[in-house]
Amino acid sequence: MNDQQIGVVGAGTMGQGIAQVATASGFQVHLYDVAEEQLSRAETGIEKGLGKLVAKQKLSETDKDAALARLSTTTSLDALSDCTVIIEAAPEQTALKEKLFRDLSHLSNDAILASNTSSLSLTRLAAVCERPERVVGMHFFNPVPVLKLVEVIRAEQTSDATVERIEQLAKALGKTAVPVGDAPGFAVNRLLVPMINEAAFIVQEGTATPEAVDDAMKLGAAHPMGPLALADLIGLDVCLAIMDVLQEGFGDPKYRPCPLLKRMVNAGYLGRKSGRGFYVYE
Ligand code: NAD
Repeated sequence: MNDQQIGVVGAGTMGQGIAQVATASGFQVHLYDVAEEQLSRAETGIEKGLGKLVAKQKLSETDKDAALARLSTTTSLDALSDCTVIIEAAPEQTALKEKLFRDLSHLSNDAILASNTSSLSLTRLAAVCERPERVVGMHFFNPVPVLKLVEVIRAEQTSDATVERIEQLAKALGKTAVPVGDAPGFAVNRLLVPMINEAAFIVQEGTATPEAVDDAMKLGAAHPMGPLALADLIGLDVCLAIMDVLQEGFGDPKYRPCPLLKRMVNAGYLGRKSGRGFYVYE
């Protein structure tokens, strides 16, 4: 075991970002995915991401090469067996994550298993593991190389030592850790996504256009980006899924998803990733 070895599970948007930040921070990173093409896409993306830092003179060419040399990709979970921390960034599906955590907890007795879940219960994930005190939430924000926050989510079973280790790791990755309890949406999404949902109601009711809502929040509330442009960036399907989790988790009708949001998701208007959401993208 080596404290400098980090496993990342899932090489999508978030896994790629986490792997980039970890390798640039000096860690040996083992990036695992079930899909070979996602791994090569992530490698290319990380090289590009580090290249941008070189262009901005935030990283030397030598350090970029060293960071790339510390990155390895794999489709075998066993390759993560020497990691002291494994950060899971696989799709937001309970059954899939529970299976992964069960498998990961068999892989190593000592590793801390951290999930980047946006909304699922860490307490439930910990419950399927052999060492539940080593399970914790480590919730990064998109884009990972840019945004400084990591919500550190304590499951019922999480030990103090696990939380401390993850707080140290967040710091070593140049992030600021904020401790949060294991409640639906944690802190940021519980505040942010209902605001996006309410913005969708404003558009649905014809009170204001998406452009007007976004201008209003940028100019009137000093938000760097309007809520509907942000919804397009996050993905409308992701926003809808988070509203569903909040509504189910709290049983409170104030979290009802906006029908316009549902209709757009059903139509495949998912935001930037599908080329159309509240705005149209070339
Ligand atoms: P994504 O769809 O971009 O990537 C998921 C990756 O997981 C894909 O590469 C897929 O091939 C891989 N995968 C599928 N099944 C797998 C398995 N069994 N084992 C390992 N890998 C598997 O998703 P994402 O947006 O990166 O989200 C990942 C996690 O991060 C989710 O839990 C999500 O809620 C959370 N999250 C997302 C954001 C965001 O803005 N996208 C922000 C914070 C947290």
